[in-house]
Amino acid sequence: MHHKPVIAANWKLNHGPTDAKAFLQRFLAQAPKMNDRTLVFFPSAITVTTVVDGLRERPDIWVGVQNVHSEAQGAFTGENSVLMARDVGARVVLVGHSERRHVFGETDEMTTKKMALICQARLVPMLCVGETLEEREAGATASVVERQLTAGLAELDDSQAAGIMLAYEPVWAIGTGRTATPEDASAIHSVLRAALGSRLGEKAAAGVPILYGGSVNRGNAATLLSAADVDGLLVGGASLDADSWASIVRS
Ligand code: PGA
Repeated sequence: MHHKPVIAANWKLNHGPTDAKAFLQRFLAQAPKMNDRTLVFFPSAITVTTVVDGLRERPDIWVGVQNVHSEAQGAFTGENSVLMARDVGARVVLVGHSERRHVFGETDEMTTKKMALICQARLVPMLCVGETLEEREAGATASVVERQLTAGLAELDDSQAAGIMLAYEPVWAIGTGRTATPEDASAIHSVLRAALGSRLGEKAAAGVPILYGGSVNRGNAATLLSAADVDGLLVGGASLDADSWASIVRS
């Protein structure tokens, strides 16, 4: 691994600007600048500006958005574009989160287009991949995550592809309290690393951080982070409380 661990908070549909301000005040008081890891917040689009402003003194912490539309602009009521995300100070964009795929019907074709737009805007996409319980039980985990990765990289050139972040989030582990074992996570991360390697070569593949997500909490964060090929964590529920989040980022 040639990069710092990436520890990311996905707030989903939680924490508006008022809550975010209170969160940051409490969190920053117990989180001095950390040179050995990259922290990322993914607030709701409405809350991004508040979080960017609250982190003015902390350029070491990145802010991202949870989603962008698959077209650059136009008549798409209710959507946010990648250029708007860049304009408000986002540096990273989540793509293909399991809730986007399974609640909002996001397809592989849409992730292909979003990944290309995000790279063209020179932001960093964090592509989420993961199998459902049914797919896992059918022994299809590797083929599902490889398919999702292939779609995400389809329109990127090699240098763009080498600049992405990847998150393995088994759907059955998200918000369920059921975590993949470190061995399970390592096994799938190495499948993803090999797929990246066959596209980009081993050296570039080693530079892509692969995060694990799915019911990470302060009790299991350190163990998951120390698993082979796990380069970071993407945390939902346990990132909502400032004290819990501060303890996870120190893992
Ligand atoms: P969880 O969510 O930590 O609440 O399981 C993770 C995610 O969806 O990114």
